[in-house]
Amino acid sequence: MDEAFAIVDGAVSPLGDETVPLGEAAGRILATDVVSDVDWPPFDTSAMDGYAVRAAEARAPEAGLRERPGLAAAGDPPPAPLEAGEAVRLMTGAPLPAGADAVVPVEQAKSEAGRVFFERAPETGAHLRRRGESVARGTALLRKGERLRPAGVALAALAGADPISVRRRPRVGIVPTGNELVSAAQAPGPGKLRDSNGPMLDALCRARGWPTVAREPVADEPAAVERLFEHVADADVLVTSGGVSAGDLDLLPPAAARAGWEILFHRVAVRPGKPIAFARRGRQFWFGLPGNPVSASVCFQLFVRRALDRMEGIDSPGAPLVLARLSRRLRPAGPRETYRDARLAEESGGRRVEPLPTAGSHDIAAHARANALIRLPVDGGPLEEGSVVTCVLLER
Ligand code: AMP
Ligand code: MG
Repeated sequence: MDEAFAIVDGAVSPLGDETVPLGEAAGRILATDVVSDVDWPPFDTSAMDGYAVRAAEARAPEAGLRERPGLAAAGDPPPAPLEAGEAVRLMTGAPLPAGADAVVPVEQAKSEAGRVFFERAPETGAHLRRRGESVARGTALLRKGERLRPAGVALAALAGADPISVRRRPRVGIVPTGNELVSAAQAPGPGKLRDSNGPMLDALCRARGWPTVAREPVADEPAAVERLFEHVADADVLVTSGGVSAGDLDLLPPAAARAGWEILFHRVAVRPGKPIAFARRGRQFWFGLPGNPVSASVCFQLFVRRALDRMEGIDSPGAPLVLARLSRRLRPAGPRETYRDARLAEESGGRRVEPLPTAGSHDIAAHARANALIRLPVDGGPLEEGSVVTCVLLER
């Protein structure tokens, strides 16, 4: 496994940056820091509909203050400075007049014949927002390498970062192979089954924001398989399923080699997923995943995601690893590093992980209940209940 990871890491490098409209940037990895060119709030402003006053002049609220005619609303230029003994009626978001140091909400005020009276004396600073109290101009609001979340989009917008520089996302071509496959919308005839790997791999990519081109299943015929390796279009990575294990119909690695791909590895000491192949042609890469659905999913999580994360310039590529306590004893793995479907839960005492019963690498129903994989080391002893194991998180 370590050798395979080293080969992937050595072969694949970040694709670089591009500039996109902010409206299309949610979920992308930032290529530069976003620094605010404004204070936030941008000016002293009222947090309520009410009256801007000098708090010290409203200490005797029953005496009232002189009400300036008119009303300042959000979007208006700042009103003229507050005069002595004066109150200015304003709306939420309106700029404060210079000299005001409190706002009395309209609910606590009564206007009568050019004077306004207050229920109680305001505190200095009440119901107003000071320029720059949230963000000072020049502050880095978002950092290079960070994923842009919705609140981050708000920060980028207020800082004027539109368009915005982000990492290029890898484009993924997805091709299931196998004579037995029909597409999900079809009724399988005798000996046939519906392609579930194609839609799953497509969904795994889309969930991480990687654009895909998903193709119809390709038959196990040398000419058809060779064609799929010749016409990869603009995909950065081609991901196939099926046709890489040792049987007679496992045509993909030789067809890839004939089409000019350099096989970087084929077969890894991992369970499930042993037949996996990895190749390169120019700047394009191919992952040949095994056809068994759990193997295809696990290989995606372990290998494909690692490569695609790297291409997108993500700082810690690959599915995250966490430690958790095992809920029951597990038999040792043997000569291949083994990944077991499991449910991981946060409990008061820490994380606890429960291995799920599974019928094998075709048991996609068991895998679909898993939110983690337990990693069992090569040639380790049995793992006792309560021991700490490494888990791969599937949902992050
Ligand atoms: P292979 O790796 O081609 O030898 O396929 C291994 C097993 O996975 C066989 O039982 C196939 O029928 C099954 N399989 C292959 N491709 C798919 C697919 N796209 N969707 C569901 N099962 C598949
Ligand atoms: Mg096959």
